[in-house]
Amino acid sequence: MREVTLTFDNGPDEATTPRVLDVLRRRGIRATFFVVGNRLADPARRALMARAHAEGHWIGNHSFTHQGPLGARTDRGHAGAEIAMTEALIRPFAHPDRLFRPVGGGGRIGRHLLSAEAALHLQENRQTVALWSAVPGDWKDAEGWPEVAFAQCMAQARPVLVLHDIAGGAMAHLDALLGRLADAGATFAQEFPDAVVPMRRGVATPGFDAHVMPEGGPPAECRAA
Ligand SMILES: [Zn+2]
Repeated sequence: MREVTLTFDNGPDEATTPRVLDVLRRRGIRATFFVVGNRLADPARRALMARAHAEGHWIGNHSFTHQGPLGARTDRGHAGAEIAMTEALIRPFAHPDRLFRPVGGGGRIGRHLLSAEAALHLQENRQTVALWSAVPGDWKDAEGWPEVAFAQCMAQARPVLVLHDIAGGAMAHLDALLGRLADAGATFAQEFPDAVVPMRRGVATPGFDAHVMPEGGPPAECRAA
């Protein structure tokens, strides 16, 4: 049986997050919300994070400003601040594994995701890096994304789907997609499979470095590509 892990990035959003939570509650599905720290200055958005947590969803860290992939930044202190400032804001609600999802810049996975400073910070703070395996592009195609999401999920045994609880209307189709997946025999799991977790509680897997930009820029094999 195909198991799908659902994740919602870049929120909370005062209009969209409640709709997403309503859909998940009605269907009895638990997911993870990777929140952006600077969105939590608004008490209404903080309340939505609290509601998600109270309803059994996991809360993870998706940077403080969401300015771009951390691997692209070499200024000292940037990565540590992006991670730590949000970590402090979500602490009462955060999953004990201290989930962190890097900003992908369009959903790509690679060395741009983390800087060496980010990697060290995550390791020292015993954090868990939760990546993904399906990115249907809901933020750029509010109508077409469910078809892409369905195909991506059906093509994998254990998809981890990235969606966004942001303005734009895409999540109006969430319930229909979940229904279609369920009709196709899919079930929903909250856990992150090892394949998308290159670091768990500060312990890096052998493949972890493939997500870290070395100091001094991309290695030769990347520059050639
Ligand atoms: Zn994001």
